[in-house]
Amino acid sequence: MSTSTLALHGGAPIRSDKKPWPDWPIHDNRERDALLAVLESGRWFYDEQVAAFEKAYASFQGADHCISCSSGTSAGEIILQALGIGPGDEVIVPPYTFVATATAVLRVGAIPVFADVDVSWCLDPDLAEAAITPRTRAIMPVHFGGRICDMDRFNEIGERHGIPIIEDACHSWGGQWEGRGTGVLGRCGFFSFQVSKNITAGEGGAIVTNDAALAARCRSLVNCGRGEAGSPWYHHVNVGTNARLTEFQAALLLCQLQRLPEQTLLREENATLLNHAFEQIDGLTPQPGSNRITRRAYHLYCLQIDEEVFGCSREQFVQAAQAEGWPVSAGYPMPLYRQPLFAHVKGHDYSACHCPVTEDLCYKRGMWFMHQLLLADNTDMHDIVAIAEKIKANTAELRP
Ligand SMILES: *Cc1c(COP(=O)(O)O)cnc(C)c1O
Repeated sequence: MSTSTLALHGGAPIRSDKKPWPDWPIHDNRERDALLAVLESGRWFYDEQVAAFEKAYASFQGADHCISCSSGTSAGEIILQALGIGPGDEVIVPPYTFVATATAVLRVGAIPVFADVDVSWCLDPDLAEAAITPRTRAIMPVHFGGRICDMDRFNEIGERHGIPIIEDACHSWGGQWEGRGTGVLGRCGFFSFQVSKNITAGEGGAIVTNDAALAARCRSLVNCGRGEAGSPWYHHVNVGTNARLTEFQAALLLCQLQRLPEQTLLREENATLLNHAFEQIDGLTPQPGSNRITRRAYHLYCLQIDEEVFGCSREQFVQAAQAEGWPVSAGYPMPLYRQPLFAHVKGHDYSACHCPVTEDLCYKRGMWFMHQLLLADNTDMHDIVAIAEKIKANTAELRP
């Protein structure tokens, strides 16, 4: 264990002479050629690339239907609208997630009800069940960081109460629960292809489901409320929106999808190395897995610090780690219900909302870093471990 001076205090950083972390997004000649081919074809709108991507992505997730759309945000809103969820309804969501999970509910006129996460950083099934009221119309767990929620429990709760489980799978491209793909573990699910995500076209999203009628409604809503394929162009049967993906985006996504299986394996391998190493360091706890997860996407690598046991605060750890060359962050700064927008939601008062596990993650314990670091080499993973050990060995220096 290195006891040399922390970079934060003028010592040599562990990663001073190393090559930089992998870039994101990444592309090669495949993307370049695919984009040029679409450009020169003149077919830029809803054509063979979009159709091919939807087919490929449905098959990748093991879904009967995939409807591409403009973002994960629009995908969530469209699913809720397609399920007929609106004013007077409630949807149970976790408070430790990107804001879109909850604002999708508000944007269809319904109320997001927050239930806390558990040690897995994902919605706690027991607390979600306890939050069910006669107005509850769906539960929307998030596979946070790529860690798949306990979908056996969620499906059992959903069936018992007659409410659909909608998977926010925006961190879980290719994730599998006992061999079955995320997005179709519950009633339906949605994905994001925004630029930070593990496959990307800058922006983009997708809905997957095995429910043909729901798929048809979503497809109509994405495309201006149009009727089924073959119906006249200016024939609108639903109050839809324009959330279509372009041919350029679909062409990019087809290329990105080719790289994904290999990247997913590499991220899993590197994350497993880190999990084992961090388990040996008192005061650090990696996000727990589950033996029912048979393929795990890592969008984020999540880690908790116990400041009493580790010997310094989360803020001190993050600062020291960054100075050593490990870009780790403290994650979300507050639970979603403390975001200013929730202070003026009509008909619901969030001021008494209190989810202690999420508050602990936000204010004291949670840390994460982005998936592209997991595409680096084995030796880079050892640098991360060495940085954590160096900070641990120098906590006396960090105490106020
Ligand atoms: C990224 C993300 C979304 C929204 O996706 P966009 O494509 O950025 O609109 C929704 N939920 C979660 C958990 C996300 O990380």
